[in-house]
Amino acid sequence: MDNVINYMEIWVREYMEVLIEKIDGCQCDKCKRDIYTLALNNLKPYYVATPLGKIMAKLESTKQQVETDIIVQVTKAINKVSINPNHDR
Ligand SMILES: [Zn+2]
Repeated sequence: MDNVINYMEIWVREYMEVLIEKIDGCQCDKCKRDIYTLALNNLKPYYVATPLGKIMAKLESTKQQVETDIIVQVTKAINKVSINPNHDR
């Protein structure tokens, strides 16, 4: 099953980088991993086979539909992890 991608992973990673800076969350690998897994577990996966022409347009419209959910879940995850980080402050 080569070339099957969960696009939600890519989007969560993308928004996580932006939102961590905006909210001023911890940027260490441990926290990022926790935020990433926490957010992904609360979002529906979106699997696609290798993106080609037509699929890219579909991807963009799907991304717009799920964008709010992603922002909400990633923000929640950042807040949760920064209250209780997996390391000493
Ligand atoms: Zn940290």
